[in-house]
Amino acid sequence: MSLGHEKISFINAPTPLTRLDNLSEELCINFYMKRDDLTNFGTGGNKLRKLEYLVKDAKDKGATMLLTVGGAQTNHGRLTAAVAAKFGMKSAIVAVDAYPGEISANLLLDAIMGCSVYLVKNDGSCSDSELEAATVKKVTEEWEAKGEKVYYIPVGGSNELGTLGYYDCAVEIAEQMKEMGIEKARLVSTIGSMGTYLGLQMGIKHNQLPIHLTGVAISPKAGGVRSHLTEYYGRVKKFFDLDMDIAPKEYDLTEDYVFGAYNNPVKEVRESIYYLARKEAIIVDPCYTGKTLTGLLDMVKTGRIKQGETVIMLHTGGIPGIYTKHHRVEMENELKGYIHIL
Ligand SMILES: *Cc1c(COP(=O)(O)O)cnc(C)c1O
Repeated sequence: MSLGHEKISFINAPTPLTRLDNLSEELCINFYMKRDDLTNFGTGGNKLRKLEYLVKDAKDKGATMLLTVGGAQTNHGRLTAAVAAKFGMKSAIVAVDAYPGEISANLLLDAIMGCSVYLVKNDGSCSDSELEAATVKKVTEEWEAKGEKVYYIPVGGSNELGTLGYYDCAVEIAEQMKEMGIEKARLVSTIGSMGTYLGLQMGIKHNQLPIHLTGVAISPKAGGVRSHLTEYYGRVKKFFDLDMDIAPKEYDLTEDYVFGAYNNPVKEVRESIYYLARKEAIIVDPCYTGKTLTGLLDMVKTGRIKQGETVIMLHTGGIPGIYTKHHRVEMENELKGYIHIL
């Protein structure tokens, strides 16, 4: 329970906080990873912490079905499907996106868990958000006519309640640091739909934790991420009736590693994926954590992260992304020399 709201605790918390000895030595930093990719349902990931609060709210409101939105390869949609399955509910995903040409990666996992996925392509007659809203309305009406009560979850689970998942995680990390004798640390987190980063920042500030948060944005946002965070926190503050302010300049973040677009294949990102896999046997994904790691490694190189610093990277999951066609074909090309057909 946080800020007066209850959750259904179903993840295997605390997730491991592990020192990466090989990379620590190579990079001359004290490098840890918080393994939220190892959360327990639907192959894991950060959205499960938000869903602990969201499914509680859905159940309290008598819902029988969870409906969310995102891209065709939404990790959040996959984890919404997982939580629905676990708690005896139906689930659906609405994606304003093209059919990727095959049922693989998250899309395959969605179907395995019994989730209905609605892919709708924009013909240009309205905006994506209008098309998404209209499709959500239509799908909701269809299921409600069949007797379901639908609970809507916005993209990434990033609404007011959703921030509490990573509010709690900040507290969890601080407790682990204490047990492990780590006095202070820089925590590096991905910024996507912003609920993870904002929740962490709220948890850190509200509880005065010895953690400095640095966010790595993974897709361009009109007007800049900082202004979106300011608007988001305004809503959250009102919702929870908080007397804590967060000034825009308090958000430490970088938009230098978005690489032009959301979920695009990027050579530098794939190189970071191979590097971590070959030094630490940990897999990061091409859309989120791979960009974050690329940013982190570059910040070490350029001195924004100082030698000797204690750095914790939050691993938010997303590994199924490796198996999506547009990422997979690039990797198959680069790695085919490793496969010997005798
Ligand atoms: C959604 C997601 C993120 C970003 O979290 P937000 O709360 O949306 O900012 C990071 N990594 C992975 C793997 C994700 O699926």
